[in-house]
Amino acid sequence: MHRRDIIKGLAASSVLLGASAITTPLFAGNDHSFDVIVIGAGLAGLTSAEYLKNQGYKVLVLEARERVGGRILTLNNQLNKPEVGGLQIGQGYGLMRTYAQRLSLPLVSLGNYAKQTTYVVNEQIINAADWPSHVANQLSKVEKNTLPSALYFKNMAKGPAFGLPTDWTSPKYTHLDIPLLEYFKQQQVSDEALRLINANLNAQSLQNLSAADAFYRLSLARAGGRGAHRVEGGNGRFTDALANNLQGELQTQKEVTHINQQGQKVKIRCGDGSEYNAKRAIITTPFSVLKNVELSGTISHLKRKAINEAFYTPVTQVHFSVKKQADVSMLESNNLWTDNALGRVFSQTNDKGELTYLTSWINGQQAQQLDTLPEVDAIKIVQQSLHKYYPGLKDKVEVVHHQSWANEKFSKGAYIQFAAGQVQSLVPHMATVEDKLHFAGEHTEFMNSGMESAMVSGLRAAQEVMGKV
Ligand SMILES: Cc1cc2nc3c(=O)[nH]c(=O)nc-3n(C[C@H](O)[C@H](O)[C@H](O)COP(=O)(O)OP(=O)(O)OC[C@H]3O[C@@H](n4cnc5c(N)ncnc54)[C@H](O)[C@@H]3O)c2cc1C
Repeated sequence: MHRRDIIKGLAASSVLLGASAITTPLFAGNDHSFDVIVIGAGLAGLTSAEYLKNQGYKVLVLEARERVGGRILTLNNQLNKPEVGGLQIGQGYGLMRTYAQRLSLPLVSLGNYAKQTTYVVNEQIINAADWPSHVANQLSKVEKNTLPSALYFKNMAKGPAFGLPTDWTSPKYTHLDIPLLEYFKQQQVSDEALRLINANLNAQSLQNLSAADAFYRLSLARAGGRGAHRVEGGNGRFTDALANNLQGELQTQKEVTHINQQGQKVKIRCGDGSEYNAKRAIITTPFSVLKNVELSGTISHLKRKAINEAFYTPVTQVHFSVKKQADVSMLESNNLWTDNALGRVFSQTNDKGELTYLTSWINGQQAQQLDTLPEVDAIKIVQQSLHKYYPGLKDKVEVVHHQSWANEKFSKGAYIQFAAGQVQSLVPHMATVEDKLHFAGEHTEFMNSGMESAMVSGLRAAQEVMGKV
């Protein structure tokens, strides 16, 4: 088979899988020595590598998956190209927006995702207007008027507003590095409210999330402003475009298994036995994955602790395509918020207002429970739950994708979260340079969030190595 055919085959199989199409030139030449090796072709790694290449450094990116993008994943074979990973490009994402212009990628508003919400609580379907007096509403007297999806924000609003995003690690706020559950209990939040908050919390659980982390993320979100966008045609185009600028400097299906600092070199070995040397390495893999890579040479105790203990939020999704129109008008105009294994359901409609696509998005403990089951059983539970509340959808929707980010070998979770005590003990050590190893990725940058963090950290790590090689 010719090289071009292999590349075509790879690209075609990625499209069938719904992944971003990639072209991956085979490695040219036998010289396995580089100025910098970047591990991981997500947003952070690609940003680093492209920058260093443009500055004239000899760079290689090693990516374990057969596609680029990491936690950015667009389903290219579905109507409107839904996102499975990184979705919202916030108003404050200055670097990502500048790059989008540079890469000639137009951004489009995410208006279609921001709909009204219908609730399923204690097995009952409830309109927002009916919630305060509904029999399923078991909240305390003072909480009754608050919608289930607003309980978290209402209770967080009573807490401190960090002036600077960096405040959260300040010794001044050590008293907030406690489980958010404990903080809420101190605020007299009722047990039913805690149950509803936990049902769709953007973290593993209230017990496992530091209040300091929660307040920090809220400060960032507030500072970021309203009105998110995504790349027209899907965010996967963004990482594809960066990868296209790398061509010969990028190899996929290269799982790094060993990173060894020896003398003046970093020696890197992959699962297929191939070995590479560099003067410096930039590691962008999530720490949840890095902890399974053998790291030798000088690595501080605190860095090892951060790598071993960092935890990533479980997120599981089931995507449904609508085959035939059904009588489910409520879903056409609303998203769904449930207190059960269906999580939240985001609906999409076409220009005629007809339902075309549904995504069930399950967070935290509910996701963890589903993730213990074989994929087919997890899907069945979500499907049955959807049919229970919307029998009109039976035989009219089909499952087109299931994604457990926690079970994904090269992610092991959706995004970093810090538990009580970890804001003080781990955060200061996430990005520190360890001899010839530099660290980038969303988990290493705390002035921004998500995709913007990944990019900013990628540039920061690239600048760290410049002048040192
Ligand atoms: C469901 C979901 C929704 C999200 N929504 C948003 C959002 O709306 N807005 C936002 O800003 N952000 C969002 N994010 C977060 C955002 O997608 C990530 O922060 C960002 O994409 C992370 O980029 P990264 O480069 O740091 O890490 P990754 O994308 O994880 O890149 C790391 C790369 O390393 C590779 N790798 C792992 N192990 C190895 C190994 N051993 N050898 C070689 N390669 C390896 C991986 O395959 C991967 O490609 C979301 C994420 C998820 C999962």
